[in-house]
Amino acid sequence: MQNRCVNIIAHLFNAPLEDSEAAVGVGTVGSSEAIMLAGLAFKRKWQNKRKAEGKPYDKPNIVTGANVQVCWEKFARYFEVELKEVKLRDGYYVMDPEKAVEMVDENTICVAAILGSTLNGEFEDVKLLNDLLVEKNKQTGWDTPIHVDAASGGFIAPFLYPELEWDFRLPLVKSINVSGHKYGLVYAGIGWVVWRSKEDLPEELIFHINYLGADQPTFTLNFSKGSSQVIAQYYQLIRLGFEGYRNVMENCQENAMVLKEGLEKTGRFNIISKDNGVPLVAFSLKDNSCHDEFEVAEMLRRFGWIVPAYTMPPDAQHVTVLRVVVREDFSRTLAERLVIDITKVLHELDMLPAKLSAKISVKEKTQNGTILKKSVMETQREITDAWKKFVMAKKTNGVC
Ligand SMILES: *Cc1c(COP(=O)(O)O)cnc(C)c1O
Repeated sequence: MQNRCVNIIAHLFNAPLEDSEAAVGVGTVGSSEAIMLAGLAFKRKWQNKRKAEGKPYDKPNIVTGANVQVCWEKFARYFEVELKEVKLRDGYYVMDPEKAVEMVDENTICVAAILGSTLNGEFEDVKLLNDLLVEKNKQTGWDTPIHVDAASGGFIAPFLYPELEWDFRLPLVKSINVSGHKYGLVYAGIGWVVWRSKEDLPEELIFHINYLGADQPTFTLNFSKGSSQVIAQYYQLIRLGFEGYRNVMENCQENAMVLKEGLEKTGRFNIISKDNGVPLVAFSLKDNSCHDEFEVAEMLRRFGWIVPAYTMPPDAQHVTVLRVVVREDFSRTLAERLVIDITKVLHELDMLPAKLSAKISVKEKTQNGTILKKSVMETQREITDAWKKFVMAKKTNGVC
């Protein structure tokens, strides 16, 4: 059943397979394990090549954008690969393919592109990356490959943007991971990694066991695990089919647009996500001089919403965003409710004193001629009191 899922997903990603050829891939515990395995395969392939050429093979590196998900940092640290990150900049929150290719050197095991950045859902330009890298490989004689981290986008792009070339249609894309438990529509604990062909997964990493009655190749970092997620994934794939997945994704996309337009209508937010990416809305306050996104997140909890606020990675750390990921069960009605509640929160914040760090200047008191600065504690207590009074006076129908 696992192999059938791998085959379906590899075809979805346009793997160049002959009619009866089996795809190469494995079910994992989420994209994180998938990424460890893909990274390990790249490292081993690169090392074998360097050894054969009689060149040093002790300083592998990997090129990514600074927007990578934490599991890439984990891979780099656990498997001793240097992580070379392309920095972000104001208004551009994904890896710049030109800069990434500039950073590639003879020790680069692969460039990792993201289809659906965790931070704003944006698709990186894998096609441009591929074209630039083909050119660079031609000039240098290297054969630096590409991995696509399609944790979210892998189950979005094939259905919503079938024309977008990001997958095995591009010659340098050698492996792709996708999370079954994101838009694969399965409960938590499943991901997939597929390779372009058998040649891209070094045989030495595969273990063959026969004590269960047949030859079973295995390549995983986790060991025994339950099969329920694989069964659930297989069920969803054949129950929904291409058409079914497309309907679900279109619906998510439409609801994300309802949310986006509602937020735009308040006139208070900049939208940081793109319309053609993962169905999510990432947004920041146009004016956060009095109140910031963390306060919005905090106050939304009173209405039962948990909307994360976070800062962008370097060099865009001064940008804070709120993010709402729209999944299958996030209906249009919920999107409209969220806009109403966010509007209420904005209204309440407008009536509150400005936050501690931005506006409260530290007052100074004179006592027997010495100047005492108000302690942070005292100032904080004042702020808390102000908030408490406000909340007590306005106890409404909030939950949590
Ligand atoms: C979620 C995510 C991951 C990690 O995936 P898990 O399935 O949670 O292990 C990796 N990369 C990206 C871009 C993600 O969005």
